[in-house]
Amino acid sequence: MTARVLSASSADIDRAVAALKSGELVAIPTETVYGLAGLALHTDALARIFAAKERPTFDPLIAHVAPSPRGERLLALSRVHLVDLTQLTAAARTTAEALADAFWPGPMTLVLPRTRAVPDLCTAGLDSVAVRMPAHPVAQEILRRVGEPLAAPSANRFGRVSPTTAAHVMAELHDRIDWIVDGGPCAVGVESTVLAVQGDGSCALLRPGGVTEAQLAAVSGQPVVRPQVSPLALPSPGLLASHYAPNKPLHLLPAPLHALDRAARARLLAPDAVVLVASGRGDHAAEFHTVLLTPDGTDATAAQRLFACLREMDAAQGTLYAEPITQTTGLWPAIADRLGRASAPRL
Ligand code: AMP
Ligand code: MG
Repeated sequence: MTARVLSASSADIDRAVAALKSGELVAIPTETVYGLAGLALHTDALARIFAAKERPTFDPLIAHVAPSPRGERLLALSRVHLVDLTQLTAAARTTAEALADAFWPGPMTLVLPRTRAVPDLCTAGLDSVAVRMPAHPVAQEILRRVGEPLAAPSANRFGRVSPTTAAHVMAELHDRIDWIVDGGPCAVGVESTVLAVQGDGSCALLRPGGVTEAQLAAVSGQPVVRPQVSPLALPSPGLLASHYAPNKPLHLLPAPLHALDRAARARLLAPDAVVLVASGRGDHAAEFHTVLLTPDGTDATAAQRLFACLREMDAAQGTLYAEPITQTTGLWPAIADRLGRASAPRL
């Protein structure tokens, strides 16, 4: 099997929709990363997703739904049989509605009480389901025409670098899936922020992502807590330490290159170093092979380019390093999270 690339033309989207409706998998563009889509309420399609990605079944999937108007978004989740709204407290419902109105369609995922229609494979047996309304117009068109929720984890083999172009998907899954819809490079570039809305209306941040903590706190008017992570009792399986990893080991430097003197650079870096420069300074381009994460210095560009930079470094000859992320606002925590996991020791 070799995957075929479809365009975003109406005729090609028809093909993608027909394939999805018959239970096949289609890689689709979203604003975060490319997703490997299949029917979220059908165990057979879900099983195909886990097999193609070699994803362990303890890692639950996010169900994606078509956009709906402000004020109707939670109801829409119940209408497509994903979420049981009767199990939400009034405070949780208020917070969830405010967040859905503010950030959907967009890179935010809410973990909410599931209905019995959602297969265990989608939720890894949990009694909650993760849901998102994506902003990418091609994803939206496909969701509208399919008419039911699609599970769509990143279209890469488990644990590896997420794809942000159709070519990345082809490199990851060409012999495992039939269809890839090319919707251009992803605009956000890192996965969605995953939040669990709690009974008291507060939010637990399960994964930093495309919507920032400051944005969440401003809209919900509630504290955003970061659950303590114990490797034995992960609150959310996507918090696994090693993830988003290139083929070659990636070493995280203790400080940016410009803050290391010559002796420290010689001690810490191999002569064939390929360095992801996150600090926005190209000082050492003559000394090492450097890859500039954010040529314009913004967090948005850094997020958008992150996974493509990791792929480019993986393809280069040499030993891979990344500067640490020193900024703590905006999309930087999501970027630091991905780099931390990409460089974590592998099991
Ligand atoms: P992705 O790998 O981008 O498809 O995101 C899926 C991630 O969302 C999982 O790895 C979990 O971290 C999180 N997630 C999905 N469903 C749940 C759930 N029911 N409870 C907690 N976290 C969830
Ligand atoms: Mg993924």
